[in-house]
Amino acid sequence: MSKLFQNYKRADLEFVKAEGAYLFDQDGKKYLDFSSGIGVTNLGFHPQIKAALAQQVDAIWHSPNLYQSSLQEEVAEKLIGTYDYLAFFCNSGAEANEAAIKLARKATGKQEIISFIDSFHGRTFGAMSATGQDKIKEGFGDLVPHFSYATYNDLDSVKALVTNETAAVMLELVQGESGVLPAQSDFVKGLAAFCQEKGILLIVDEVQTGMGRTGKLFAFEHYGILPDIVSLAKGLASGVPAGAILGRSQLSSAFSYGSHGSTFGGNKLAMAAASASLDLLKADGFLEAVQEKSQLLMKELKEAMHDKKSVVDIRGLGYMIGIETTGDLPDLVAKARAKGLIILTAGTNVIRLLPPLTITNDQIHQAVSILKNIFD
Ligand SMILES: *Cc1c(COP(=O)(O)O)cnc(C)c1O
Repeated sequence: MSKLFQNYKRADLEFVKAEGAYLFDQDGKKYLDFSSGIGVTNLGFHPQIKAALAQQVDAIWHSPNLYQSSLQEEVAEKLIGTYDYLAFFCNSGAEANEAAIKLARKATGKQEIISFIDSFHGRTFGAMSATGQDKIKEGFGDLVPHFSYATYNDLDSVKALVTNETAAVMLELVQGESGVLPAQSDFVKGLAAFCQEKGILLIVDEVQTGMGRTGKLFAFEHYGILPDIVSLAKGLASGVPAGAILGRSQLSSAFSYGSHGSTFGGNKLAMAAASASLDLLKADGFLEAVQEKSQLLMKELKEAMHDKKSVVDIRGLGYMIGIETTGDLPDLVAKARAKGLIILTAGTNVIRLLPPLTITNDQIHQAVSILKNIFD
């Protein structure tokens, strides 16, 4: 009998080794990973990240935020580039969104935050309160007040919820967990302009869409907008727990000495992995290749699925792809796994693909041929 709470539905196998885009189970069976550990190991199990971690373990693996951290400075610089942002490091997506919510409330002196129906922002009280899905929140009692939920891709529904007490709007540019639904360009641009005009902060939750996942370092770069606050986690440190927010430097007085913190935030192992990950993501031509190859994957998928009765829609942005289906999701995931391909689900009727950004054309062909095989 397991001594673990049974809050996860786990498949009956364990991965004990990994290399690049491949996972190996306890029997030595090899799997092509089209999940990246739920959008985490965005660069696969990469030798440069392994080397950075090994080197950091050798030097020092933890030092509290009472001392300087040149690694945190380095990662912040690589993330921020030429943007006018400052960074705060934490350990997870939910924690990054907590920081975003706290920063927005304190900086504006207002409390109301508008997020979206079917959004997912995490499992802590603040992040859960921001989440627009009842099933995530049931049974946990009173939530954080002053959250309301607009309709995704509907600017009028946001406007209808705005009051003089609105601090921020919180948005995923591709709703990941609820079904891989990309935001429409007009909606995002209109929302950003509206928020700016009204002095409402725009928080973009890039926990899943960030770190190259969509073919840009941040998904907001596809839309020509500049959020006031960006939250990051999943791919940030390629599998070492890490989260972050980037916030406009003019918000800095709200996060003054002692106002917020995290014991583990910006941990040296996490920052070493993040720094190595960012070097790979920012290498010349890397993200351009992600854009090209992800279009190839999308094209091949659409060709392979065009006569499949159980496939309703194929959509996404970059390497964040959803296949909406009338098929049975656990059955599809199990069939793919039996054929050596690891895939994910999203919402109630979507197969989600989040391959490592480093996959080769051969690996794309291989995955598509397995997928073609499993859908009716
Ligand atoms: C996964 C996810 C989160 C939560 O991240 P955790 O690290 O599990 O807390 C928040 N927002 C989005 C968009 C996510 O995909």
